Amino acid sequence: MSQQTMQNIPQWHCDVLVAGSGAGGLAAAVTAAHHGLKVIVAERAASCGGATARSGGWAWTPGNPLAKADGVNEPRDDFRNYLKAVIGEADYDHERIEMFLENVPHMVGFFENSTPLKFTPGAKICDIYGRLPGAGTGHRSVAATPFYAKQLPRHLLGILPDQYKMTSFWGMGIMAGPDLGHFLNAMKKPQSFLYAAKRFGIHLYDKIVYKRNMQMVNGLAMIARLVQAADEKGVDIQVNTSVKALIEDGNGKTVGAYLDTPQGTVQVRAAKGVVLATGGYPANIERRKNFPRNPDGTQHWTLAPQEADGAGLALAESAGGYLDDSGRSPAAWCPVSVVKFKDGSEGVFPHIADRAKPGIIGVLKNGKRFVNEANGYYDYVAGMLQAVPEGEAVESWLIGDKRAVRSYMFGYAKPRPIPLAVYTRYLKCIEEADTLDELAEKCGIDPVGLMSTVAGFNRMAKQGKDTDFGRGDTPFNRYGGDASTGYPNPSLAPLGKGPYYAVKVQVGSFGTFAGIAVDAFSRVLRRDGSISDGLYAVGLDQKSVFGGNYPCGGINIGPALTFGYTAARHIAGVTEYEDDGSVCPSADYQGSLLRPSEK
Ligand SMILES: Cc1cc2nc3c(=O)[nH]c(=O)nc-3n(C[C@H](O)[C@H](O)[C@H](O)COP(=O)(O)OP(=O)(O)OC[C@H]3O[C@@H](n4cnc5c(N)ncnc54)[C@H](O)[C@@H]3O)c2cc1C
Repeated sequence: MSQQTMQNIPQWHCDVLVAGSGAGGLAAAVTAAHHGLKVIVAERAASCGGATARSGGWAWTPGNPLAKADGVNEPRDDFRNYLKAVIGEADYDHERIEMFLENVPHMVGFFENSTPLKFTPGAKICDIYGRLPGAGTGHRSVAATPFYAKQLPRHLLGILPDQYKMTSFWGMGIMAGPDLGHFLNAMKKPQSFLYAAKRFGIHLYDKIVYKRNMQMVNGLAMIARLVQAADEKGVDIQVNTSVKALIEDGNGKTVGAYLDTPQGTVQVRAAKGVVLATGGYPANIERRKNFPRNPDGTQHWTLAPQEADGAGLALAESAGGYLDDSGRSPAAWCPVSVVKFKDGSEGVFPHIADRAKPGIIGVLKNGKRFVNEANGYYDYVAGMLQAVPEGEAVESWLIGDKRAVRSYMFGYAKPRPIPLAVYTRYLKCIEEADTLDELAEKCGIDPVGLMSTVAGFNRMAKQGKDTDFGRGDTPFNRYGGDASTGYPNPSLAPLGKGPYYAVKVQVGSFGTFAGIAVDAFSRVLRRDGSISDGLYAVGLDQKSVFGGNYPCGGINIGPALTFGYTAARHIAGVTEYEDDGSVCPSADYQGSLLRPSEK
């Protein structure tokens, strides 16, 4: 840029510039503003929230004050022991994990007590590897409490996305736990039917009156509350605005950035720091070539939005930072199926819950099971990557009988009373057949292998013991199952009468684990170990604190909130905690979607 052009660029001034408005960016922005700093958030998309707004919104927060309020007081050594057992000594980052564990209670307490973001406890959400030392059986996660959005000012509603199409029911989000339970039981229990009908009725009303969903749940509820908190604390949120290049002071210190705004380029001077929170690089095909079995970058289907293309990483590299991909895996794997819609568009569906349901199994092309389907999403994909022979496409099939497919969700297809015809018309990914060998033929699976797998699996399911992969052995497996089938193990039921269904599952991710190398305060590091002054990276922009492992659901958002919070406190020079990391026990943890007073 010439001197002349540079002088004509408008200048904005702030203390902290945050790139990105997901969990990491907004946590940093709200905390910095709470401590009196002037904050600008630049968000590249037309609405806030990135992958966070699409997500389930669960945050792994061991030692959180909601657990304590419920009388659960686990020693911190339990968390350390569990993490050490999952991660292994080589990848265990002592300093960053201590920073995380120390700050979780204060972070949750801060948002609960000083902002409109309220939390619901994950009292029954178990850690994935239940047989490892220190594994938890609940109370280590929180999610944003659902709420009805009429109370939000209109200018904020305008910068919030709709509920994520692929995991919502005609645009209405459903929360894991009692909320989902009512929808799954709508055809069995009258009170669940009434509940589901009322929720959906309100949703239809909102679509007509407000032209959007107003019942905020999951990650969208979290983003809506963080946006509200940011607004109340004076944060300036600019959407359709990307951070393009950093400004250095000549001594290697980052002092601002150039933004692309709808009005043209703007120069921002950030007196205290720039926080990169652009959501990692899962949508960057070129950079994804470092994923296993993905040489040209295209054999991967991420659930993250297209804006998560590594902008933060490129900015960090321009200031001497670097990509640390030394952990167990570069991405947060999730098995996905590609849904083809009637209009030719495609969507990516995450197989989060269906794999674990009794009457559903996962098989490879040879018809054989290869993994404990009811373990974490990460493990299912890691199992595929290991079991599928080199040279073959990395894919598997989930197979279910009619009872399972119509009782639970099966991929994108919802259970009864939604007719399956709705989906067969719109989807091309679900195959249906009256017999297993016919189904195998349709999918290109070895029929003999499949028949013998199902016969063996059915025998084990009747006995309640999966001697092949240990499915149903852990609290996590059993919680994901269904205790009402009448079989001894909630995770296992035989595949009974046809018709049978199959959906092809491929390698996808929630986002990246590899990321910018940072220190415990989330300051960007150079390869020589020195700090890139004035520059921070949080959320998926920083390397996963758990070394590319997946110890529990919520391990993306928990650290994103916590390190956003700690980075902002470091920038503000705050060392005292705002509170003692406790919360008042709330009688209304489950939220207020149906509360008439808020309508
Ligand atoms: C369907 C789904 C379910 C999930 N469920 C969970 C769950 O329950 N628990 C959990 O822990 N994780 C979950 N995840 C993963 C989790 O949502 C993400 O890992 C996490 O929210 C990422 O947060 P972030 O702040 O790093 O990035 P994001 O939330 O992706 O935010 C990054 C933002 O930066 C913006 N941006 C990009 N480039 C620029 C630029 N140059 N300038 C300005 N802005 C920019 C993007 O537009 C985006 O809005 C889920 C993900 C998905 C998709």
